[in-house]
Amino acid sequence: MPPNDHALLSASSAHRWLECPPSVLASLEVADTSSAAAEQGTAAHELAEFKLRRALHLNPTVRPVSDWHDAEMETHTDDYVAYIQQVLSSVRESTPDPLVCVEQRLDFSHVVPDGFGTGDCVIVADGIIHVIDLKYGAGVLVEAEENPQLKLYALGALHAFEALYEVGEVVVHIFQPRRDNVTSWATTATELTTWAETEVAPKAELAVAGEGEFCPGAWCQFCKIAPTCRARAQANLDLARFEFAPPAELTDSEIAEVLAQLPQLTKWASDVEAYATSLAVNQGKTWDGFKLVAGRSIRKYTNESKVVEALEAAGCTDVYDQKLRTITTLEKQLGKKRFAEILAGLVVKPAGKPCLVPITDKRPALDVRDAGSEFTLTDN
Ligand code: SF4
Repeated sequence: MPPNDHALLSASSAHRWLECPPSVLASLEVADTSSAAAEQGTAAHELAEFKLRRALHLNPTVRPVSDWHDAEMETHTDDYVAYIQQVLSSVRESTPDPLVCVEQRLDFSHVVPDGFGTGDCVIVADGIIHVIDLKYGAGVLVEAEENPQLKLYALGALHAFEALYEVGEVVVHIFQPRRDNVTSWATTATELTTWAETEVAPKAELAVAGEGEFCPGAWCQFCKIAPTCRARAQANLDLARFEFAPPAELTDSEIAEVLAQLPQLTKWASDVEAYATSLAVNQGKTWDGFKLVAGRSIRKYTNESKVVEALEAAGCTDVYDQKLRTITTLEKQLGKKRFAEILAGLVVKPAGKPCLVPITDKRPALDVRDAGSEFTLTDN
């Protein structure tokens, strides 16, 4: 679902508050900001909901209208509906008439104070619940496995339907089409309930009281006080103060340790820079030892028609480049299916430049013996 649930301890922010309970009250006063990505996500969810209701012959809805709708969104929302129908067919093999809920409010306040969220699609059948979540964002890859947001939704679904169905198994699904990421993860009602009692409830209690340890980590990127958080700054500055032992050069294990910290460190540094620059530009804030200057810029035409007129008047006619539209632009223009039909075999994806990532990354390891001299690391 789009991030429109406003519970203090929302399911969509559960990853953060479970890891860093005091972040909830610490960021309470900071206003939410809307982004283009959030608006696009909302438009995609509304379109997907409409198409799903229509496909399932559920209570009629009016097709939503949005400037965000394009061929890509049409394709992805069609695929989302097809995926749910696929899940439904497998469910119907054992339960001919399962309950299907679209945009279902899921209340998990028996575990988290005032906790609720909205499940994009919940399928309830004999012995099993499926919770399916559409993620339209392309920035952060979202895993289904151990996903706290979906686990909380599942707790809400279990709570809502336990009187009607005996449910032992729960499967949560992430449908993230713009990352080609469709994953599911199965767990049991017992495991979820144990997690709720031993992990969620105690952390929620700390969070609403503003207690617990500030704990920096990957979840900081979704925290409203990320640029100014002292604990996060401390953790990153500790790396800069890392006491490397002699000899003069870093050992392999020290370099590996720095590599492991770099994503957090660079993200923190850019967050602080963006925050300080925004205050300086928008509120006239001054920072000791710093000043605002105009950044680099490139020349541009003030009026292209007049430029062409002037060039033609001067006898210069060879002034245009003709360029093929980019793959992304053409794919959007034609739609994925037609693009693939017309250009089958004419689009390749060359191997990307090698990059070091944590061992936990899902991509297969590159065999550099095969890659051999194909790759040359340069600055550009
Ligand atoms: S920035 Fe990170 S450590 Fe600081 S409050 Fe937010 S989640 Fe916690």
